[in-house]
Amino acid sequence: MNNSIPSSSVEKVTAITNARIFDGEKVIEARSIVIEGETIIAVGGDVPADAAIIDAEGATLLPGLIDAHVHTSVGGLRDALNFGVTTELEMNGDFTGRGRAIQLKNADDVADVRSAGTAITAPGGHPDELLPDGDEIPEFVLKELAKLSDEDREAMLAAYAHDHEEVPQVTTVEEAIKHVHTQVDNGADYIKIMIEEGTVMGAPGLPVLSDEILKAAVEEAHKSGKIVIAHVLTAHSSQTAIDLGVDGLGHLFIDRPGYTPELVQTIADSGAFVTPCLVLNSSILGNPASELANDPRVHSKLSPEWMDILNSSFNTFPQGNLENSFKNVMDLHKAGVDILVGTDVAPVPVPNLGGLAHGASVHHELQLLVKAGFTPIEALQSATSKPARRFGLTDRGRIAEGARADLVLVDGDPTTHISDTLSIKAVWFKGAQKRS
Ligand SMILES: [Zn+2]
Repeated sequence: MNNSIPSSSVEKVTAITNARIFDGEKVIEARSIVIEGETIIAVGGDVPADAAIIDAEGATLLPGLIDAHVHTSVGGLRDALNFGVTTELEMNGDFTGRGRAIQLKNADDVADVRSAGTAITAPGGHPDELLPDGDEIPEFVLKELAKLSDEDREAMLAAYAHDHEEVPQVTTVEEAIKHVHTQVDNGADYIKIMIEEGTVMGAPGLPVLSDEILKAAVEEAHKSGKIVIAHVLTAHSSQTAIDLGVDGLGHLFIDRPGYTPELVQTIADSGAFVTPCLVLNSSILGNPASELANDPRVHSKLSPEWMDILNSSFNTFPQGNLENSFKNVMDLHKAGVDILVGTDVAPVPVPNLGGLAHGASVHHELQLLVKAGFTPIEALQSATSKPARRFGLTDRGRIAEGARADLVLVDGDPTTHISDTLSIKAVWFKGAQKRS
């Protein structure tokens, strides 16, 4: 018996043994880890005598997964955690530092979240075309609200009221700068800008802010120490975003014009990352996520409303084809661009925003990246260590001594067979086991 690893008398110590371990970068030699409190205190080595032991023979331990493009809610964060997604990155919505303090006060069974706050867009610009008219709370939101506890509902309405008492209208350089400050003051973790003229959203002619205004926003965000992510769905707007100096593209261009090789090189040279959201492109092109929805490991965890959503699609650009997105993402990957797993899932089940669901779609995205040509290990890096590094989440995304104990244990070996990520045996969030 070896007691060389000290453990305090109050914190529970757990050892996971005999696991294959993917540490965020690669499969490592060690087969065990020790968790104390919220932290991984050892990888490999002796197991403390007082540890509760979980024998993970035949299973693989992964860092908690990260979805680098969502629009979320308390319910979305809960579903995410059920699917081993321990962090969601909100790209236009609630859950800035201020929002988290209001909405997550009493929630202990939800994923962690970071947020851009409200994105910078032209009046009437994207995503207005996707949402119902008027300022009233839409019916599908009220339906979701009815399912929440009184406390959760109050928190959500308070956050909604806060967001809508000060609708940020951006039409000038000065207003763009003010908007950035408002988001930063609310505790935004990064800044999001929209460059969407609507063609692939089935709404050509959407208003877009001028390059001058967008550039002012990017520069102001950088002055505040925040990275900027651009919504772009075409090659043309991707070029614009890179010219503006953004740090990441929130989508993968869905078209593939002749100048794609130059664009890929420009993106690589800029150092920007790309969150392709292949699951969204697939849905825009008219493909429902029915194969995913039919997987018992998925439908056992989702509400009938989210199942309906998965079984439908955006279908706003059926003339495109997914092969182009696969080629584009592989070209970027081979050029050395960091590719991050993201989904663009909506906060609540919205009938026209099909093909996506919290948590489940992260596993779908991993599968599509492998279909495009990623190795399973490269795909897993894109959902763990890479997003953690690009978003400055230095405490997570890897299995290492001192890292936060956000973990997923799955049956089988997703480092060779990617769909094994869905065979979830257990999820740990900040060291606490959330399901088994
Ligand atoms: Zn989005």
